[in-house]
Amino acid sequence: MGGEREIVVGGGAVATGGASGRVVPDGGVAIRGSRVVAVGELGEVLDRHPDAEVIDATGRLVMPGLVNAHTHLYSALARGLIAEIEPSSNFTEILEHLWWRLDRALTLDGVRASALAGAVDLIRNGTTTIVDHHASQATVEGSLHTLADALADVGLRANLCFEVTDRDGPSVRDDGLAENERFAADGGGSSGDAMLTASVGLHASFTLEDGTLERAAAVADRFGVGCHVHVAEDRADVEDSVRRSGTRVVERLHSFGILGPRTIAAHCIHVDERERALLKETDTIVVHNPQSNMNNAVGCAAVPTLLDEGALVGLGTDGFTASMFDEMKAANLIHRHEAGDPRVGHGVGPRLCLECNPVVASRLFGETVGVLEPGALADLIVLDYDPPTPLEAGNLTGHVIFGLTGWMVETVIVNGRVIMLDREILTVDDEEVMAEARACARDLWKAM
Ligand SMILES: [Zn+2]
Repeated sequence: MGGEREIVVGGGAVATGGASGRVVPDGGVAIRGSRVVAVGELGEVLDRHPDAEVIDATGRLVMPGLVNAHTHLYSALARGLIAEIEPSSNFTEILEHLWWRLDRALTLDGVRASALAGAVDLIRNGTTTIVDHHASQATVEGSLHTLADALADVGLRANLCFEVTDRDGPSVRDDGLAENERFAADGGGSSGDAMLTASVGLHASFTLEDGTLERAAAVADRFGVGCHVHVAEDRADVEDSVRRSGTRVVERLHSFGILGPRTIAAHCIHVDERERALLKETDTIVVHNPQSNMNNAVGCAAVPTLLDEGALVGLGTDGFTASMFDEMKAANLIHRHEAGDPRVGHGVGPRLCLECNPVVASRLFGETVGVLEPGALADLIVLDYDPPTPLEAGNLTGHVIFGLTGWMVETVIVNGRVIMLDREILTVDDEEVMAEARACARDLWKAM
């Protein structure tokens, strides 16, 4: 114990996140090694940890590092894409014209560059844990380890998987299954420090044969991990499932044993009452991605209903943005807009991100992640936020929705390691990372 580094971050308001959602004015958080050991009044915390290094957060807001429960780091190289892309009139065409061409053109260098640049962008915006869904169908083998190495260099906590699909033929499908298996077997699930865990990635029901679903479920079972799959993101997924199996998407996946408390079902837009009940019964993790859904014009998940019914719903960006603050705002707006009723969905964005995502992450990492409390893994962020109104536990939601942005984040600690201090990234040369990413992006766009 004695040799472990102690840090106290404090002086400003400390928002603990989690179900209790406390806000401690003039608070402090003590960290020893990779864990939070105390949260409270700064004076008391300092009395108990007199030898700790102090990171002064006077006039700042200290919060848990944010969790992004569904994203695609490889989309980091798609921003501002210049290529001949046919216009798309529906979701399936968006995949065919853009994303499937991009993932087939990615090289391992591109995977590394996108992961480094994506991770730096996430850190700058206060995200410290991601649940990533990776696709690089022309370079499958080794892609997850390449991602993992890049994320370890930056210092981001991650659950990784490779997107298995039948859309590129049996050999790419088999490679995808093998890549998930290799990664899960090789410490993805048991690296010891909970910085890295594995899931089994599946694209979506409409590109997966029955036999593939069976094999994926068997791999997940063998390693005691969940699956990570896009579910009923578009009506086309439902129509395909009914055609193939006579059942809707959630029922089809359930019949192959894909659902469960560690499985991530991203989107769940076109699900009916029975499917919602199945998601709840199996305790499957639903992840809402409102900005991506609006961008693809695929609809709006019934998140307020899912929450009322007791389902676990997390929040992700689907790679649309690096900022969970933006996503929280969008999650707050979409449901009332959809319902045409300003009473709907109040506070739902912050609730998904600050209460539910920690539950999601804690399941996937087997430790308390995403809240500031003694015993939790030490992931926290400091924001330069000087509000014009009082900030208290009862009104944090209003500050999150109407005040906070990712660019207020100054300091980021992950697993007790200082990754960014006063806006300076300490773990990698971020200018070099971005220059390398830009070079890779040009090559990728040409190759598409
Ligand atoms: Zn996605």
